[in-house]
Amino acid sequence: MNSVCVNVSAPYQILFERGGLKRAGSFIKDVTRAKKLLVVSDTNVAPLYLAIVSSSLSGEGFEVSDFVIEAGEQSKSTKTYLSIIDALASRSFKRTDAVVALGGGVVGDIAGFAAATYMRGIDVVQIPTTLLAMTDSAIGGKTGVDLPQGKNLLGAFHQPKLVLADADVLSTLPEREWQNGLGEGAKYACLAGGRIAELMADGDIKNHTDEFIELCAGYKAKIVAADEKEGGLRALLNLGHTVGHAMEKLSDFQIPHGVAVANGVAIMARSAFICGELCENDYKNIQTVLHNVGVTELPKIDGRIFDLISMDKKASGASDISAVVIHGIGDCRIQKMSFEEFKAYIG
Ligand code: ADP
Ligand code: ZN
Repeated sequence: MNSVCVNVSAPYQILFERGGLKRAGSFIKDVTRAKKLLVVSDTNVAPLYLAIVSSSLSGEGFEVSDFVIEAGEQSKSTKTYLSIIDALASRSFKRTDAVVALGGGVVGDIAGFAAATYMRGIDVVQIPTTLLAMTDSAIGGKTGVDLPQGKNLLGAFHQPKLVLADADVLSTLPEREWQNGLGEGAKYACLAGGRIAELMADGDIKNHTDEFIELCAGYKAKIVAADEKEGGLRALLNLGHTVGHAMEKLSDFQIPHGVAVANGVAIMARSAFICGELCENDYKNIQTVLHNVGVTELPKIDGRIFDLISMDKKASGASDISAVVIHGIGDCRIQKMSFEEFKAYIG
């Protein structure tokens, strides 16, 4: 079994183990004094993996119950969040009990947020079941739900006690969700360079899944440890997200997050190349990576994209956009730009 430590104020491990779901109980026993566990999952993941996890947890003496939410982003709502809180309260969960999030990013975010807020915060363990969650969203403690006014508007930082990544569960992951995870992979390729970029350029992640997950998770862990609450450096992880978020919104969330991010990376790479910040060789390699995740042409950047970026910037309250500029593969830098400067940069 491999592992990575996320060295934040309360450090925790990311465990990488195929078949690890069966041993969830013994891993979790080491990190919490909870007696009761609420396993939160969704309607796609629960039929596949809830029984394995629950029996492992019961086997270690935990009092286990579950709460299954409807699969899909529409469940990341205050309504579903309150229903999880209601389950915790009505089942008499104590301050010392814990939540286990078994699913993709949606389950991780909402279960994490329920744990962050119930009795001012109880333990949570993340068991990510998508490529995107294993490499990105389950690590780093960002939790939350969407509001009618926008995505992730209600949330909190709440680091898990443990992240357990069992790549065996990816055998049932739909193709679309692979592509979604690989989209964020394009971001990691540009940020981290090295072997991640090599794997992404080779385009055969399915045959190197373990290595890829461990490298991406390890890279994220390093950034999060250096900047737990996104005061500076962590903003690097937003590469491709300014344009990506706008594209997602414009498509009414029909374009999956990771794919939108890959499109955002495509735009940032082109801009950097045009401005002479990115050399031709690296630009070509980034294009190969993007081809491998299905981004074969540059998305159109029109007025509506700029309107959405401008709205996002206003909503964040920041006076500038923190653009993540690609100077080379493995050399991305945060650069503050006014909205007008950013518009000129990517337009
Ligand atoms: P993400 O992890 O990309 O943020 P979701 O949490 O919405 O997004 O998960 C994406 C979809 O994949 C959901 O429909 C979810 O139920 C499903 N899913 C998650 N993990 C698995 C898995 N291991 N096998 C099959 N389907 C899965
Ligand atoms: Zn993202």
